[in-house]
Amino acid sequence: MHAFVPFRPPRRWRPFATLAAVALTACASPPSTTPQAPAVTADAARVAGVSMDELARQQGFARWVANFEDAARAAGVDEATLHLAFDDAHYVPRAVSADRAQPEFTRTVWDYVDLIVSPNRVQHGQQKLAEVQAELDAATARYGVPQATIVAIWGMESDYGGNFGDIPTIDALATLGFEGRREAWAKQQLMAALKILQSGDIARAHMIGSWAGAMGQTQFIPTAFLSFAVDADGDGKRDIWGSMADVTASTANFLASSGWQTGQAWGAEVRLPDGFDAGRADDALRQASAQWAAEGVQTLDGTPLPELPDGAIFQPAGARGPAFLVGANFRTLLRYNNSTSYALAVSLLAQRIAGGPGVQGAWPRDEQPLTRDQLKTLQSALNDRGFAAGAPDGQMGPATRQALRAWQRSLGLPADGFPTLDQLTKLLTP
Ligand code: CA
Repeated sequence: MHAFVPFRPPRRWRPFATLAAVALTACASPPSTTPQAPAVTADAARVAGVSMDELARQQGFARWVANFEDAARAAGVDEATLHLAFDDAHYVPRAVSADRAQPEFTRTVWDYVDLIVSPNRVQHGQQKLAEVQAELDAATARYGVPQATIVAIWGMESDYGGNFGDIPTIDALATLGFEGRREAWAKQQLMAALKILQSGDIARAHMIGSWAGAMGQTQFIPTAFLSFAVDADGDGKRDIWGSMADVTASTANFLASSGWQTGQAWGAEVRLPDGFDAGRADDALRQASAQWAAEGVQTLDGTPLPELPDGAIFQPAGARGPAFLVGANFRTLLRYNNSTSYALAVSLLAQRIAGGPGVQGAWPRDEQPLTRDQLKTLQSALNDRGFAAGAPDGQMGPATRQALRAWQRSLGLPADGFPTLDQLTKLLTP
């Protein structure tokens, strides 16, 4: 598959990047770091063999890169690194199309869990755990994160290294920065990526990952790499692409540095007592497992609840779906990817890889996911009825969830904050 549109800007409007280049051209024209692009004309486009739009885009990208190089130089990035990073920089069209794509539907949590915690992925994870046992032993001993959790993140992020993306990170981030929707974020990540290149951890050609700039086997963005990547095999390089010692240690270090509590369970699936107020299934309501047990919350098999000082009840599919008691380690997984469905899927995949059960309660599979437009309508209807759901954006954020809970409570419905078509219909009925 041809992923990249090859692009090499004409030398004359590239900045002078090395001392050698400056010396060679010193007698010609003065070096300029804000090069002027040639005019975009039909002739110029014909000579370049591209459309005028494409030529304008190529020139815009080159100017963006040149301006960024100035900023990087000012931030202390050396000329050799700038050469390495940008002499052959490519615009990546699929990074832009992927970044702009907004799925109409949000996948339901049960479809997501089914997809991630599949029998195949569990089995593959057990096999991979055995393959890298020695590296995992070392990472777990050093950072106190269970082996199955490290393997589950690896399975989630790149299908155990089978697919961690083939886009050069420098190109992906320069493209996202130029495209502009998240320019400040992309610039910060690109600057971090240059520091990684300058440190010599990885060659530009091997510094690859997703269209969004996540790199290597467990998909670190560059700032996460700078904070958490470690050289565990002692070769002097932090290699999260090719060294499983470095991959496992770096991933464990990320979690250990983000609040992982050694020896604590992520949580457990639980049975709630009859009459449980669904409004109490809320991450803001945290208390010790003993307190939840005193209120009648039980594990499914009758064993004691896992010891959590600050457990919360989590019902990802609302009051009709399964319930979980989750603690600090579940919340630490949100630092890796801020999605409760993600944290639940990693927790369950790890549990299954370690030989434990998957979800045993029944999901409300008859519920249809709401479209973004339906969620916007729901938000407007809540606002109209005086329940402040915030500006309608089609996202179930905290404000919308609280507004939905308040409306549900006003009607004596379970206040689970889980949007359904049935409730949308009710909200739209005068
Ligand atoms: Ca290494």
